[in-house]
Amino acid sequence: MSAHSLRKMLTAVDRWYRRQGRELPWRVGPKQRDEGTRPDPYLVWLSEVMLQQTTIPHATPYFDAFRKRWPTVQTLAAATWEDVSAAWAGLGYYSRARNLHACAKAVAGQGAFPQDAAALRLLPGIGPYTSAAIASIAFDERIAPVDGNIERVVSRLHAIGSDGTEAGWRAAKQVIATHAQDMADALPKDGRAGDLAQALMDLGATVCTPRNPNCSICPVWDFCEARQQGEQERYPVKAAKKATPTRHGSAFVLVRDGEVLLVRRPASGLLGGMMMPPTSAWTEEKASDPLEGAPGRRIAWVQVGEVRHVFTHFALKLDVWRADVDATARVEGEWLSHEDALAALPTVGRKAVALALGGEKPRRLN
Ligand code: SF4
Repeated sequence: MSAHSLRKMLTAVDRWYRRQGRELPWRVGPKQRDEGTRPDPYLVWLSEVMLQQTTIPHATPYFDAFRKRWPTVQTLAAATWEDVSAAWAGLGYYSRARNLHACAKAVAGQGAFPQDAAALRLLPGIGPYTSAAIASIAFDERIAPVDGNIERVVSRLHAIGSDGTEAGWRAAKQVIATHAQDMADALPKDGRAGDLAQALMDLGATVCTPRNPNCSICPVWDFCEARQQGEQERYPVKAAKKATPTRHGSAFVLVRDGEVLLVRRPASGLLGGMMMPPTSAWTEEKASDPLEGAPGRRIAWVQVGEVRHVFTHFALKLDVWRADVDATARVEGEWLSHEDALAALPTVGRKAVALALGGEKPRRLN
């Protein structure tokens, strides 16, 4: 695409963004920017971390709650891990919560967020995409963050596909990233790189959708090679997804007088540092001893059912066991009210505890 066409396209994208851009709680829209309001890097960072791997409707209540409770990076840095992990419960990918807290502490120690992508990348949990997103949105650095939406828009604009293999898709992604960066580079020196990034994100989310892109209202219609070929939905051609393996395990929900026993998982590893009911190891084969990992072997455990949960790399089938004990039972962990336990748990733990407390008739095995 010639430099002239590129500039024309950027103007069309900017006009569209001013009219059709989404209003989001963490966003400073183009009109507010015109009036001199600057995006708060703390809110940009918080939203980007929350939105990794989840949707805007799911992340928004968490964003609002964090913002209300911890309005600055300093207040988040001063919070306890127990409070942060409990507030994060339900957002998934708990290593991100650990990195979020570590990053807040690092930034509070430095006094403020660094203002360029290279320095942002040195912070915990901030990779190439997130650093580019914060640097462009909060500081207008002319660097292109490439999320799934931008990837789709740019791949269609330039008809960049792949042969469907992992290597082919990796190579295609590099070409897409180069074209996205060309757009950022074509902005004037004082151009708003953040507006461009957010405009492309919005375009992918609302117009250039994975299925049935609405090309007739698209601001880059004139420039789009996939549309000219009539092959919009052919792009991007990603590598075929691998089948998700299944793991099996057990969760043990111990109940006494309106309370549930939870334990904190080790800081590293899956669900690291989060509260959970005690569980067995999660393995590819079902354990021969169904009570492996149960607290108190003499306790009369009854199986109440099974919950399923999908993590990034595997699907989990979790047998849920329940037992009721009195105050004399000696077990390690923390007793929480039903309500507090459900609020503190990550989704998979909440499913297990909700099933155990849900009034289902316990079924005694053997
Ligand atoms: S013209 Fe259609 S395929 Fe091309 S960018 Fe716009 S919506 Fe996507």
